[in-house]
Amino acid sequence: MDHFLYKDGALHAEDVSLAQIAAQVGTPFYVYSSATLTRHFKLFNEALEGLPHLVCFAMKSNSNQAVIKLLGDLGAGMDVVSGGEYARAKAAGIPGERIVFSGVGKTRAEMRMVLEGGVRQFNVESEPEMEALSAVASELGVEAPITIRINPDVDAKTHEKISTGKYDDKFGIPISRAREVYAMAAKLPGLKVIGIDVHIGSQLTELAPFELAYNKVVELTHQLRADGHTIERLDLGGGLGIPYERSNTAPPLPMEYGALIKKCVGDLDVEVEIEPGRLISGNAGLLVTEVIYLKNGENRDFLIVDAAMNDLIRPAMYGAHHDIVPVVEPAPGVETSTYDIVGPVCESGDTFAKQRTLPPFKSGDLMAFRSAGAYGAVMSSEYNSRPLIPEVLVQGDQYAVIRARPTFDEMINRDTIPEWL
Ligand SMILES: *Cc1c(COP(=O)(O)O)cnc(C)c1O
Repeated sequence: MDHFLYKDGALHAEDVSLAQIAAQVGTPFYVYSSATLTRHFKLFNEALEGLPHLVCFAMKSNSNQAVIKLLGDLGAGMDVVSGGEYARAKAAGIPGERIVFSGVGKTRAEMRMVLEGGVRQFNVESEPEMEALSAVASELGVEAPITIRINPDVDAKTHEKISTGKYDDKFGIPISRAREVYAMAAKLPGLKVIGIDVHIGSQLTELAPFELAYNKVVELTHQLRADGHTIERLDLGGGLGIPYERSNTAPPLPMEYGALIKKCVGDLDVEVEIEPGRLISGNAGLLVTEVIYLKNGENRDFLIVDAAMNDLIRPAMYGAHHDIVPVVEPAPGVETSTYDIVGPVCESGDTFAKQRTLPPFKSGDLMAFRSAGAYGAVMSSEYNSRPLIPEVLVQGDQYAVIRARPTFDEMINRDTIPEWL
C-alpha cells in the first residue's frame, strides 16, 4: 500500500497535488511519501515483535538525508556499504551503535573511519578482509565486532544481476568453509565474533529461498556454538520483493516474512537484524516526468519524456518494469493507446517501457513512474550533462525539496581546467 492516489481527478502524494509540485520544482523529479516510508518500516518492526531485533534500512536503496532522518527517528538502524553511506548516516544523526557495515570491498581507510566513529558490527565477507580489519582494529587498540557473511549457495530465484547467495556470486564465504573461517577469526587480534550474516539477493518474490538459507544459518549456529564461538546476533539480510506491477500477484508480506524468521530462528536466543531496502523505499517514491513530444513512428508511437536512463536506470540495467500512470486521472472508459516511452539520451537503451497500453498522452502531459523510491535517485548520473533531478518529500499537506536540482554552473564548475592548458 502507498499514499499516491487520485483526488479530485489529480494524482496526489498524500495531500499534495503532483501537478502543483511540478509547477514549482519543474520536471522531472522524484517524490517520496513520509507516510508510506513510515508504514513500511513499522510493518517490519511489527513483524519481528517478540524477538529482540533491529530493522536496519539498506541505505543503498535511498540515501537522502531526509529519508534517513525520518527512518532513524522511528528507531531504524542503517545498513551501509561504503564510507560515504556511513558518513551520510552519521550526518543524519544515526548513532554508530545502530549502523551495520556491509560490502565485499571495504577499504582500510573505511574500516578506520567506521571504527573511530562507532559501529554496531562489520559484516565481513572474506579472509583477506578479516585480516585487514584485524590489523586496523589492533592499530587503533580496539575490538571490531564482526559477523561473517556466509554464502549459503541458495538460488534466490531473482534477476541474475541481483542474486547474491549462490557460490558463483562474489558475496560472502562459502558455507562449506564457514567453521574454518570462524576458527581463524577467533584467533585474530582486534576482532570479536558476535554472529552470522546472510543476504541472498534482492527482489525475492517467494519465501522458500529465505527459508532454505535461514535453516542453513540455524544449523551453522549450532555448529559454531559447539565449536566454542559466541553467536548472539543473526543478520538475516534484506531482499524481500515488492509488487512492481499492480496486475501481478504480490510477493509475500513483511508479516509473513517475519513469521518465517520467528519459525526458523525464534528458539535460538539470538538478536535478529534484517536489512530491507527496496520494500521500505521502493513503493514510497514516484518519478514524475513530462511528455516532451509524441512522435508517430512507422510502426509504433513514441512518447519522448524529459526523464531519461540517467535519472532512473532500472529499466535499462535490469529490464525492470515500472507501472506508468497519468497525473491527470483518465476519464472512465477512455480509449487507450500503445506507446514506447523513451528518454532524450542518445542510447537505444534509454527506454522506460515498450508497447505499453496507456490512456492517451500528448506533449505537455505529466506522467508518473511508480515504485521509483528504491534504486532510483541513488543510481542516477549526469550522463549527457543532465543535472541530477530534484527529490521532494511530502508529509500530509506539506512538502519540501530535499535535494535541489543543480544549476548548469554548479554542474560545470565541479570540473577544473589546469592552468597549463
Ligand atoms: C542490497 C542489500 C540489501 C537490501 O536489499 P533490498 O532488496 O533492497 O531489500 C540488504 N543487505 C545487503 C548486504 C545488500 O547488499
